[in-house]
Amino acid sequence: MSSNADVLIIGGGLAGLCCALRLHQSGISFQVLEASDGVGGRVRTDEVEGFLLDRGFQVLLTAYPEARRVLDYDALNLRPFYPGALIRYKGRFYRFADPWRHPIDGIKGLFSPIGSFSDKLRVRKLRQQVLTGSLQDLYNRPEFTTLQALRNIGFSENMIDRFFKPFIGGVFFDPNLGVSSRMFEFGFRMFSMGDTALPSKGMGAIPDQIASKLPGGAVRKEARVESIQEDGVILKSGEKIKARSVVVATEGPEAARLLGDKEKSGSRSVTCLYFETNELTLSEPLLVLNGEGKGPINSLCCPSSMAPSYAPKGKSLVSVTIIGNPNQSDQQLETAVRVQLTEWFGPGVSRWRYLRTYRILHALPLQVPPVSNPTSRPAQLRPGLFMCGEYNNVASIQWAMVSGRQTAEAVIDWLRK
Ligand SMILES: Cc1cc2nc3c(=O)[nH]c(=O)nc-3n(C[C@H](O)[C@H](O)[C@H](O)COP(=O)(O)OP(=O)(O)OC[C@H]3O[C@@H](n4cnc5c(N)ncnc54)[C@H](O)[C@@H]3O)c2cc1C
Repeated sequence: MSSNADVLIIGGGLAGLCCALRLHQSGISFQVLEASDGVGGRVRTDEVEGFLLDRGFQVLLTAYPEARRVLDYDALNLRPFYPGALIRYKGRFYRFADPWRHPIDGIKGLFSPIGSFSDKLRVRKLRQQVLTGSLQDLYNRPEFTTLQALRNIGFSENMIDRFFKPFIGGVFFDPNLGVSSRMFEFGFRMFSMGDTALPSKGMGAIPDQIASKLPGGAVRKEARVESIQEDGVILKSGEKIKARSVVVATEGPEAARLLGDKEKSGSRSVTCLYFETNELTLSEPLLVLNGEGKGPINSLCCPSSMAPSYAPKGKSLVSVTIIGNPNQSDQQLETAVRVQLTEWFGPGVSRWRYLRTYRILHALPLQVPPVSNPTSRPAQLRPGLFMCGEYNNVASIQWAMVSGRQTAEAVIDWLRK
């Protein structure tokens, strides 16, 4: 069967949706083919018994330039986190504040046992470093692993272990900090320039907002593409769809399969457990980091402390993040997590009700050096065949959105030629 669309976009995650939006704005006809039952890809929210469960703990960094350009932040009703974190260390919680936004808490934190006094001054140096120059400049700088970059600045091992490993390790799902320093510097720049926030209706409101700007019927759900042909695609159902151009906007491993690429880049996994409680576990909108280096939990937060709509009235939602995909059943994992939660919050944890576990096997690509410069336009793979998303081993909400738009612009140029 032939489609009336000029362009087929495989995948309705943020990259595919932003590609579609740009094509739509230029009056180019397109069809998004999405394998699952909804848009958003890795950014989706499930409603379960009145709770909003994001499929894995995730946040929007409001400084993302592309998100600022495309999204209507007011309509998302963004609810920010406190700029800093609560770090669990030696049986206590210590507040680690961003001194530029919370000077008093920042000064108090100078005397905490998380890193030395000099480490806290080095944060200033790091901040200056990441805020200097354009994003293009940042992605052209010498590249190291993040661990090496932190050591180059002079951070102590205590500061790296207590703060950077759970914090940055939790952002990239890489507790050993092998991730590229360019990704780290980009992330730290965004954390320094804006808020870390949740939309009040869950992270899934982000792709929903983009999809709402597309014409009706633009996204065909439950349409898994099996293979790419010279003149279109074949769906898993066997249906053939023709078009002048095809854009691959799937996650990296699936893109590799569709393109017959033998060199698959690896994946970082993450696991997220949700609990409900009647107690106000964390009244402040804070991220809690495990600075003790033991136990399954990397971090946790109470999304309902940021955005009350994440839980029914009178209840709190707790989200626990574990890096990787532990080789335990959900029940064994819940038990292990409860042991650690009880150490942290006391025996009341036994009254918390377990809601759900999400295991995301491909949460992010490895993003180890060398990563490409995501500010440059993606290449055409062959006449009419393009790729966006994680094509260059660089992921995030920002770069998925940019890659979608830039790929659409490349497609438009090609179609007009
Ligand atoms: C738990 C978690 C937390 C994260 N936290 C953050 C964060 O805080 N901040 C941040 O910036 N980034 C975060 N990320 C990363 C960010 O979500 C991703 O980089 C980004 O959403 C990827 O978008 P994408 O469109 O490239 O891919 P995806 O979202 O994976 O979309 C790909 C789409 O393609 C579809 N598809 C796959 N195969 C086929 C096929 N054969 N046919 C048709 N359709 C197909 C999939 O169903 C999916 O909808 C997080 C990711 C995870 C998993």
